[in-house]
Amino acid sequence: MEQIQMVDLQTQYKRLQKEIDESIQNVIEGAKFINGPAVKSFAANLADYLDVKHVIPCANGTDALQIALMSAGIQPGDEVITPDFTFIATVEVVALLGAKPVLADVNPEDFTIDVNQLESLITDKTKAIVPVHLFGQCANMASIMNIARKHNLKVIEDTAQAIGSDYYIKDKPGKAGALGDFGCTSFFPSKNLGCYGDGGALYTNDDELAAIAKSITNHGSTVKYHHDRIGVNSRLDAMQAAILKVKLKNLDDFNRRRQAAAIFYDHHLEEIPEIAIPVKRDASTHTYHQYTIKVPKGENKKLQEYLKKHDIPSMIYYPIPLHKQAAFEQWTDDRTFPVSDELAERVLSLPMHTELTKEQLTHICNTIKTYFHE
Ligand SMILES: *Cc1c(COP(=O)(O)O)cnc(C)c1O
Repeated sequence: MEQIQMVDLQTQYKRLQKEIDESIQNVIEGAKFINGPAVKSFAANLADYLDVKHVIPCANGTDALQIALMSAGIQPGDEVITPDFTFIATVEVVALLGAKPVLADVNPEDFTIDVNQLESLITDKTKAIVPVHLFGQCANMASIMNIARKHNLKVIEDTAQAIGSDYYIKDKPGKAGALGDFGCTSFFPSKNLGCYGDGGALYTNDDELAAIAKSITNHGSTVKYHHDRIGVNSRLDAMQAAILKVKLKNLDDFNRRRQAAAIFYDHHLEEIPEIAIPVKRDASTHTYHQYTIKVPKGENKKLQEYLKKHDIPSMIYYPIPLHKQAAFEQWTDDRTFPVSDELAERVLSLPMHTELTKEQLTHICNTIKTYFHE
């Protein structure tokens, strides 16, 4: 049996090698390295795939979030509501712009922002909500959009972990990130649509916001050497775009492979009483950026150690909720976050990628069974 990896990008590359190599070679031969045809055609293909009007490529997912907030007009002193249980990038960019991140606890079933708390966190300074579609499943967008529209707030979806997931409103499917004012995604190598370095994009159906975002990625400029606003330099590399173009054609297949691995895990782990398998929502498909189980409090670290002894990697996403991070102390207003505190001691993410074999999955599940029943 091949060594089990948390994410296996080598085997996936070997399957797609010919096409990816050719695509990279084309960029080198064409020598259009900055915002050239590779970047433009990838952006157009992604817009088609997501069924959105505008895709604005940028340097990474964190930049995508920052540029979306800047485009939405977030100013120093404004408040932006984000979940407490996420990767730091979601919240960091709010603080970087001088705005105040207002953390919300999450719900214990799917780990996304607790919509029941939202209205109590809204003040006259609140300008936006940034829901995170954590681990590959969408937050409760129907409620979030209702609340946001009622209070005239922008919605910026952090889709870094859920590209390709579908969200259903009134039985009509749309892609994750396409409902709010902006969707923001990352092409970090281990993401569901990952490149071979850094990359990101933001997308929107709003022509005006798209034009602003596009100019912000390019030093606040639309006409060369004319600068209408303060912007940044954030570009998707042409070589990365060439890789992503090939990978985008395979994204649905990648996500199906992840779902197949998840079904295997579900089937073999649901019989273990100590384990809660991931909850599937009707309103969203799950593309399993992570396959995250819950175990009894404090067991996650012990199970992780045990798996490691049997050559099985696993990760705790996230071991420390944001309200407990030194960088965020000033923003918690002494509120408590019991759900994310508890999750940090209960969650464990198992190996999840497009190349897992039945043999590997069987070994992982059997080892977990032995841990609980020996
Ligand atoms: C990966 C990730 C990001 C940031 O993406 P980068 O490309 O690494 O900047 C933001 N939010 C979430 C939830 C992520 O998982």
